[in-house]
Amino acid sequence: MFNSRIPGRTAPEGREPNMAGDTYGRLTLVSEIASAVRPTKRKWSCVCSCGNTTESVLNHLRQGRSRSCGCLTIETSMLPRLPTIVDGRVARIHLGHDKWAIVAIEHLEIVEGYTWCYSGGYAVTGNLRLHQLLCPCDKGKNPDHIDGNGLNNVYAPGELINNLRPATKSQNSANVGQRSDNTSGKKGVSRRGPKWRAAISYLGQTIHLGYFTTPELAHEAYCQAALKYHGEFARTE
Ligand SMILES: [Zn+2]
Repeated sequence: MFNSRIPGRTAPEGREPNMAGDTYGRLTLVSEIASAVRPTKRKWSCVCSCGNTTESVLNHLRQGRSRSCGCLTIETSMLPRLPTIVDGRVARIHLGHDKWAIVAIEHLEIVEGYTWCYSGGYAVTGNLRLHQLLCPCDKGKNPDHIDGNGLNNVYAPGELINNLRPATKSQNSANVGQRSDNTSGKKGVSRRGPKWRAAISYLGQTIHLGYFTTPELAHEAYCQAALKYHGEFARTE
């Protein structure tokens, strides 16, 4: 009669030898769970070397698809995400793939409690953005990235390395780079026929600054207005 069992595994009385104690990766078989409908679905209760108990499909164990209770996956995916100290003042946090954020070293303890990912130019975990966690603001304000890089979340008020400051919505939008539809290559300057128009936005309004013969003159007008309206939040590139 055809015998599908692995040679050498067949017990004399036709039953399989006790496989309890066999190990696959981190998992050690404890006892078979009797509910399997088909042989390919046979499940075993296993104990993982981390101490957890789990149920695994025997075929998956034999094929190397189940190697732990899940702890192995967690460990290998978390490993590169651990913060790396860069220069004693700043640490970088892996966000997955080739994305990193940087934070002040004194914030590592706060940051380490979460798994951070990259989303839309920022480091996020769920709905929480890293800069909002590190730079608490009064109502009506939000943290502004001074250098325009949403991944530089070094918050060290009063120090040269600082990159976050509480800002109102209007101050925040002042510190945004050129619009992608900018036609002049200079912030606040757009072409109007043979002339160049300078304009600045302030409190949600566009303020017209005049027409100029060259983009350089128009940009100069913009820069002066930026200082007047945006003050320290001005970004003229
Ligand atoms: Zn485990």
